[in-house]
Amino acid sequence: MAGVALLLLHATVYFTVMAALLKARRRYGIGLFVCALGVMHFLETYLAAVFFIELPFGLLSPGSTVLFSGKLMMFLLLYIREDAEVVRQPIYGLFIGNLLLVVLALILRMHTSVAHLAGGAPDLGFIDQIGVLMVWGTLLLFVDCIALILLYENLSRLFARNVVAVAFVSASLVLTFDQLAFFPVLRWTSGVPFSALVGGLVAKLGAAAFYSLLIGVYLRFVEQGEDRRSRRGVWDVFQALTYRNRYEDLLKRSLIDEVTGVRNRGAFEQTCREWLDRPAPDGRPVTVAMADIDHFKAINDALGHVAGDAVLRSVGGALERFVRNGDLVFRYGGEEFVLLVRDLDHAGAVTLAERLRASVSEEVRAADGAPVTVSVGVATSTSGDLRGLLHTADQRLYEAKRLGRNRVVGEAQSA
Ligand code: GH3
Ligand code: MG
Ligand code: MG
Repeated sequence: MAGVALLLLHATVYFTVMAALLKARRRYGIGLFVCALGVMHFLETYLAAVFFIELPFGLLSPGSTVLFSGKLMMFLLLYIREDAEVVRQPIYGLFIGNLLLVVLALILRMHTSVAHLAGGAPDLGFIDQIGVLMVWGTLLLFVDCIALILLYENLSRLFARNVVAVAFVSASLVLTFDQLAFFPVLRWTSGVPFSALVGGLVAKLGAAAFYSLLIGVYLRFVEQGEDRRSRRGVWDVFQALTYRNRYEDLLKRSLIDEVTGVRNRGAFEQTCREWLDRPAPDGRPVTVAMADIDHFKAINDALGHVAGDAVLRSVGGALERFVRNGDLVFRYGGEEFVLLVRDLDHAGAVTLAERLRASVSEEVRAADGAPVTVSVGVATSTSGDLRGLLHTADQRLYEAKRLGRNRVVGEAQSA
């Protein structure tokens, strides 16, 4: 029993200090918490290999159990209070740091030690022992962390948001998996007895229960308030945890026009290049429509550029809303938008453009309440030559302006 009491004390001290550092992140930054987590991680790996604790019923537990479970729970708590974007930082940091440690230790071993100082015989043998454990444990930890967060996310959707229960169930599943995967290697490197397999599992599950309660206490009494995580799909969380959204976000952002939120000129150029490389199958019509806001300069002059930007945004939004799924809207220039429409014959495309024009004039208002209109030139062909289409659409747009604006022109006009 004394063993159990000591473990609980161990866990309480660990949790209290780490939770205090977590809480202090608003004031001092997250660095304190993350650094402390890293130091404990190193101690934990060493303990896993060399230190065992007696539990009741003759079970043995590796001395690392409390720290290991604690660290996972700390990741979970950090995730609950922050977001996947924050928690992935220490997850990757530990992973890379551990690998670096193993590599550096290998290099270090190539030295021949010069002097044996009294009482300090260098024993790098333990590095052999924990090196393998480090690599395997680190890999597992990486999987554990991501699995824990995804499980938590999933289970809290399925069941009532009882944080303690959901944390306990997710942690138990992950820790069981971890124990089964970690033990064979532990036995192989350190000859740990089998009783430590069960003992370790019991201790880990016990730790999961205890820490889940502590997390409940923390969230109830120390840091209440809104869950700061944005409501996002589990796949999204996974993408964030694995940094996969970074690049895609960046890519997406650089192709989106900041003012209107529709695709920008760069995106249009990219689409043109892609179409040159991969022409659409023969015979399928493509339409380019060019829409230009009527008397936009007057709106700017009368109401200012900020109001002008708001009009641009509304027009872009209206176009996006009224095109069909799969049609693309680009902001081509100042107040010119280009629409790319596929698989509609020319008459159909003109009808679509007419519907868009009507929607804009009905829906979009400038800040002074005056309706905003657009003129549109439409060109369709089956050749897939976007630049040629753009040129024709542009000429027809000018015709629409000349004929009095707020209209769609879809064919060459006789002068
Ligand atoms: P028309 O009916 O013949 O198209 O007349 P217009 O006034 O719309 O045409 P013009 O091309 O003379 O004016 C376009 C104006 O769009 C001029 C420019 O100041 C304004 N503009 C271009 N980009 C932006 C922008 O990002 N924000 C704002 N507020 N105005 C812009
Ligand atoms: Mg204009
Ligand atoms: Mg213009």
